[in-house]
Amino acid sequence: MRLFRDLQAKASAVLLIYTGGTIGMKERSGEEGLVPFDFGGIADEVPELRKFACRIDSFTFDPLIDSSDVEPALWQQLARLIKERYDAYDGFVILHGTDTMAYSASALSFMLDGLRKPVIFTGSQLPIDRPRTDGKENLISSVEIATAKDDEGRALVPEVCIFFDSKLLRGNRSTKVNATGFDAFASPNYPALATAGINIKYNNRSIHYGSEKGRGLKIETSLDTRVSILKVHPGITEQVVRDILLGSQTRAVIIETYGSGNAISKDWFLDIIRESSASGKILINVTQCLSGDVNMNLYATGRALKNAGVVSGYDCTTEAALGKLFYLMGTCNDNEQVKLLMERNLKGEISK
Ligand code: ASP
Repeated sequence: MRLFRDLQAKASAVLLIYTGGTIGMKERSGEEGLVPFDFGGIADEVPELRKFACRIDSFTFDPLIDSSDVEPALWQQLARLIKERYDAYDGFVILHGTDTMAYSASALSFMLDGLRKPVIFTGSQLPIDRPRTDGKENLISSVEIATAKDDEGRALVPEVCIFFDSKLLRGNRSTKVNATGFDAFASPNYPALATAGINIKYNNRSIHYGSEKGRGLKIETSLDTRVSILKVHPGITEQVVRDILLGSQTRAVIIETYGSGNAISKDWFLDIIRESSASGKILINVTQCLSGDVNMNLYATGRALKNAGVVSGYDCTTEAALGKLFYLMGTCNDNEQVKLLMERNLKGEISK
């Protein structure tokens, strides 16, 4: 990891953290494909950054990674970096590939406790040196939001967010919905926290401000990753379900169900669910649908899951359920306690 020079020395300050991804890539003559460029020169690529009345420092991860290679170790590094530099900056902008951005933003939302400053993930679908790039607008607006304060000097958005295509979304409500369009992210179950037009309009009623009497930022970096995801589908075999739900290395399984939380009602399926639950595993029900929530009381198939010990994920995204489980299991050895907390709203990830 390398630290690059300050771009400007002014009142407020932002730390730009580059982890990899399309936004920081460009074509280099004589080389095939896109290669990352030196982020110390970001102001040459995006001269608009010089117009901000704030200092922008940058920190580049080494090696840079395509976000498809993101591991929880990156989240731990990010949490430690933000903690180390917390007092020196008004906000943090994390440049990250889009593929797993919603996973990273979700995980960080649980790992950073007592956050009073913006942590904004952004990236782009086109590299920043392309004429039609979406990277410039995403980066410039993210920097503006990261330094935005009210009259009393409090951050306008003290949350972990994703900014993309003019919208600021809560990180743990976001999901990647478009592989090629600029509107790559959506937050189907929660309103946007801000929208960028001529001005940036903040949706204050939806932003979580936390208590003023915080103890400062605390980070939690112990993560237990023994989680599997089971997506039910017509034709799924008993053996596949058995392997996932009864795997000896698995402590929790996120079950992606149909509609409002329904799954197969056949005896063999429910028997495996019961066996898995009785063995102490944590089973969480999230819906495959993009929006809406799980209600296991609605249909007999859902009720059967509930009676078998499956816990509702309500309107939680799979990305948020995964980060929440890693975090809770990393801090708590008692599976019953983890189940209780999975049904509780911790960081605005569920509507409950
Ligand atoms: N594969 C890239 C990544 O996620 C795509 C992107 O940056 O948008 O790192």
